[in-house]
Parts: sequence; structure tokens; C-alpha cells
Amino acid sequence: MQQIDTLYAQLNKPHNIAITMHQKPDADAMGSALGLCNFLKQLNHTVTVISPTNWPSFLSWMPGCDTVINFEQQQEQAIKALQTVEWLFCLDFNVLHRTKNMEPILLQLTFTKILIDHHQEPATEQFQFGISDTNKSSTSEMIYDFIIASGHENKINNPIAQCLYAGVIADTGSFRFPITSASVHRMVATLKDKGLEHVPVHEAIYDNFLENRLRFLGYILQHKLDIRYEYNTALIAISKAEILQFNIQTGDTEGIVNYPFNIKGICLAALIIEREGEIRCSFRSKDNFDVNTFARQYFNGGGHYNAAGGSSNDTLFETVNRFWNAVKEKVQYLQ
Ligand code: 5GP
Ligand code: MN
Repeated sequence: MQQIDTLYAQLNKPHNIAITMHQKPDADAMGSALGLCNFLKQLNHTVTVISPTNWPSFLSWMPGCDTVINFEQQQEQAIKALQTVEWLFCLDFNVLHRTKNMEPILLQLTFTKILIDHHQEPATEQFQFGISDTNKSSTSEMIYDFIIASGHENKINNPIAQCLYAGVIADTGSFRFPITSASVHRMVATLKDKGLEHVPVHEAIYDNFLENRLRFLGYILQHKLDIRYEYNTALIAISKAEILQFNIQTGDTEGIVNYPFNIKGICLAALIIEREGEIRCSFRSKDNFDVNTFARQYFNGGGHYNAAGGSSNDTLFETVNRFWNAVKEKVQYLQ
């Protein structure tokens, strides 16, 4: 993978570009993609954003979101667009299988793949150009760096700033996780100088759910929180029946994994959800417990040191048992 700055000079002549991100994009994946899209369009590039799957409705306010192609629903249109692009920006993921059903097409077509990402252990051999920096708070911060370093600071406007700000607040837990560096605060200060309206971003992401989601949260905290103080660990496991009972949609479970940290002493929190066709797992940790390694070792996943995800093809019951057995094996890191 060659350094990304070799591309800067080529930004000044128009290219046909696509941007994609990991499946079920979160605010950082969608924010970085649409921030970059809005920027590249100002430089007169032709830009198409393709999401591997659907996304939470609380991201639909982002400028440009109405033009994003959902690969699962609009496969023909997506493939047609991909067949003509010269560059594909791959944002907020570290290995092509994170694009789910898009992976075979991305492996088959011959465009230049450009990685911009902050996850651990990237498969750099899959990309021709790029930057991977695990010390960065978010891919959105890296898009900000890309715009500045390529000499286009003057292109940053409120739509770009709101997309990038959304990614930053999501991945830093609104500026509280250890990854929140001085550079993040400097970036936001610059975005404010350039007209960022930050209040609507918080409202769109955090104050935009329907009543069923809050009722669901109450139910989970009352009935589904399994806390094992001997491991300083809490698990929430949710069945497909419960998802249906509360009419839970993509995005409604975002952030729920963090609630156990309200309890003093909790070091590891997990959310295991029975979804269509597979079980998805989210892991979060505090202090010195490495959930990237944990997710890789036991749940075919990965991510960051303190936030990672994975999956399981077992039943929900078996996955939960496997989780507690894995925790038992790692008990020395949890005390
Ligand atoms: P979440 O729990 O919010 O789904 O994911 C937490 C972090 O881990 C995110 O940065 C996400 O991109 C990453 N992640 C989630 N699932 C996987 C996975 O299966 N593989 C890898 N490499 N990263 C994942
Ligand atoms: Mn991210």
C-alpha cells in the first residue's frame, strides 16, 4: 500500500470516484464517506457513495445521504457505478470482507482502492494507496486531515463539518474515550471557525429515536443485564423474538453496550444480538482489557483496543456460553 499523499496532486483533475464503508455504517463510516463526498464534489469529481447495507435512520439528515446507494437493495445500480470508477475510497474498515456481499465484486474489479481507516491490523495488501492510523479518533478525523494536508482547507463548509463532527462524537463517545487527543479538539475548533453548527448534529443522533427504543432500553436494563462481578463484566443478550417484540430497527441498539459502564468497577461490557442469519457481538472495555484481540480470538472479529465487534454462527444460547467461557480464560486481565 503506497502513501496517500502521492494522490494529492491528482486531486486537481476530475476523476470518477466511488466511496464505500463497512456494512451497517455508523456515524463515523457514513460521516467520513459523506464528508469526503461533499469535498470531492467541490473539486469537480464525479462521486458515488455506496453502502454495503442499510444504515440507521438517525444518519439520514447528513448532507448527501439521500443519494447513497444501498448495495443490498440496489445491486444492479451499484455494480454499474463500480464498473466505471477509477478510484474506490474504502473508509472506516480494515479488511474487504467488512463490506459483506460487496467483497467479491471489489476483488474482481480493477479500480484503485484507497484505504483511510483507524482500525487495528489492516489488510494493507488489499489496497493500492492509503493510510491506516490506529492513533486517530475516527476516520472522520482522518478525512479532515486529508482535506487539510492536500491543501484544500478553504473547501470546508458547514455540510462537510457536520458530517465529520458526527463521526468524531460517535467514535470518541462525545470526547470522553482515551483516544480523544488534542488534535481532535483542534479539529473541532477549526470546524467551529468555519461555521460548524454542532447542536443539530447532537439532536439528530441522540434525540431522534421513537418511544419503542426507550421502552426497549428500560426492558433490557431491568431484565437482561447479566452482571458477573467476579469478572467485572456485564453481558446483554437479545433474542430475535425480543427485537421483533419491540420493533427494533437498524441503529436502535447503537450505544446500548455502554450502559453497564455506569456501574462502578465494570471493565468489560458485551452486547450479543440474534440478527437475521447470524449473531452479532459488540465488545467495549475500560482500562487494559484488549477487546480487539478478544474479538479476533473468540468471535472472528476485531476493531479497536477498547471497542470491537464480531459474529457467531452458533445459537444465541451457545454464543452466550462461549462468551462466558472466554471471559473465564481472560480473568487475569479483568481484575
Ligand atoms: P460495533 O460494536 O459498534 O459494531 O463495532 C465496534 C468497532 O469494531 C467498530 O469500529 C467496528 O467497525 C469494529 N468492528 C465491528 N465488527 C467487526 C468485525 O467483525 N471485524 C472487524 N475487523 N471490526 C469490527
Ligand atoms: Mn470509526
